[in-house]
Amino acid sequence: VPKEMWVDICVVGAGAGGLSVAAGASQMGATVALLEREKMGGDCLNYGCIPSKSLIYAGRVIENLRSASRLGIETDVLRVDFNKIQQNIAEVINAISPNDSAERFEALGVKVIRETGTFVGDNILRVGDTVLHAKRIVLAVGSATKIPSIPGLENVPYLTNKTIFDQTAAPEHLIVLGAGATGSELAQAYRRLDCEVTLLEMCTLLNQDDPELVDVVRTQLLREGVNLIERADVLRADATPNSISVSFKKGDREHKVVGSDLLLAAGRAPNLQGLNLESAGIDYDEIGIKVDSRLRTSNKKVFAIGDVINGPKFTHVANYHAGVVLRSALFKLPAKVNYAAVPRVTYTDPEIACVGMTEATARKKYTDIRILRHPFSQNDRAVLQGMTDGLVKVITTKKGIILGAAAVGPDAGELIQSWILPIKKRMKISTLANLIMPYPTLGEANRRVATNFYLPRLFSDKVKWVVRFLLKF
Ligand SMILES: Cc1cc2nc3c(=O)[nH]c(=O)nc-3n(C[C@H](O)[C@H](O)[C@H](O)COP(=O)(O)OP(=O)(O)OC[C@H]3O[C@@H](n4cnc5c(N)ncnc54)[C@H](O)[C@@H]3O)c2cc1C
Repeated sequence: VPKEMWVDICVVGAGAGGLSVAAGASQMGATVALLEREKMGGDCLNYGCIPSKSLIYAGRVIENLRSASRLGIETDVLRVDFNKIQQNIAEVINAISPNDSAERFEALGVKVIRETGTFVGDNILRVGDTVLHAKRIVLAVGSATKIPSIPGLENVPYLTNKTIFDQTAAPEHLIVLGAGATGSELAQAYRRLDCEVTLLEMCTLLNQDDPELVDVVRTQLLREGVNLIERADVLRADATPNSISVSFKKGDREHKVVGSDLLLAAGRAPNLQGLNLESAGIDYDEIGIKVDSRLRTSNKKVFAIGDVINGPKFTHVANYHAGVVLRSALFKLPAKVNYAAVPRVTYTDPEIACVGMTEATARKKYTDIRILRHPFSQNDRAVLQGMTDGLVKVITTKKGIILGAAAVGPDAGELIQSWILPIKKRMKISTLANLIMPYPTLGEANRRVATNFYLPRLFSDKVKWVVRFLLKF
């Protein structure tokens, strides 16, 4: 006879989104069960943000050392010990994991159950040998690498974000399928760690980002020797005992690239297997679980958040979703999602970061916009660090309301933070133009780009006439 259990909130999935809901709900007095079938912490901690940024950091350090001679620092021998790089990634994950651990959540009063959750009714889940009844259920089950339908792929050993960070030997020649954020970041990191890398993309590099900014990253990837092939239509994949080949068409010619390893990074698919959503009347499609603006599914007792729904797939968005759901589920407030000021960072070097509207979206919505630019070649800190590639770009209305901001360049992910509040609050560009920023910092570029809004007017003939007139007295 199965055990029965009753809780206020059941959270399925202990990744970025689920952990935030569970911690918040429990600390605010609800009884909470948290189900996790695999590793606590989900993708971000175990197979995503943390291992990837750790590997990228290793790549950045070696690249800095390679270019240190321009500062007068000679490094004779640089050698990559891939086994140690992998060990370091594991240590970083270990160092962060107590935050997401079952022990920590049990201590907060959450009942953590290390099992798969499967619906057997509207608000009832089967969890191992327990039948769990919950007043509200939050699905935070995440996503996984989408396996593209490429002829031959079924017979080819491939890596995904779940397996690549466990490799203790460097791939000799890594073929990466997909030049989105994950594919581009990892392609550059492996190249810097002395691997040959081919990056294949059916569309164009980082096609979610502003092409003007992407150009800077493209130039850098090519300069570092990433074999980037855009507009490649992959035809098939094959394997021999020692190699993997991918055939593709570009233009009207067929080509073949032969490598040692293949990484799939061409999109994400929702983790729906085993949930039995039909028995709870929850609608979904291949993109994910369908939700309304309050993150409610077609079953009003069930919410879905994070990567499993259609929307931006980031840890900070999953966390944001958690806050929206907590307001709805605990306080019955009609909280809705608003993506107007969601920042996004691609951790290539240089980084690309943006928040708010891109130039393309702003042009669709407004007939008259202003585009402001400030290149890092005019920022003294960037010059002294030898990192002058890139720019800050800001889009405003004619009257100076900030619609969007983006940057490509050193620490773009940090620089973009100054624009989140102004965009969220629909502030005017004068707010930033009138600030005093410390010198010499990269952040000065944010003020300089803002002052560009006023330059055409400030240095106009009309102003010159007024100044000359006033100086007569
Ligand atoms: C390589 C890579 C790099 C990334 N880098 C960044 C980055 O730098 N910054 C950023 O913001 N985002 C990054 N992301 C995205 C980020 O990892 C995700 O947006 C985030 O993890 C989504 O959180 P989530 O809670 O929706 O899902 P997840 O973190 O995937 O958690 C879902 C959990 O649910 C569990 N689960 C699934 N089904 C069930 C079930 N039926 N029962 C019980 N448990 C279940 C899974 O085992 C998993 O642990 C990266 C992703 C990848 C792949």
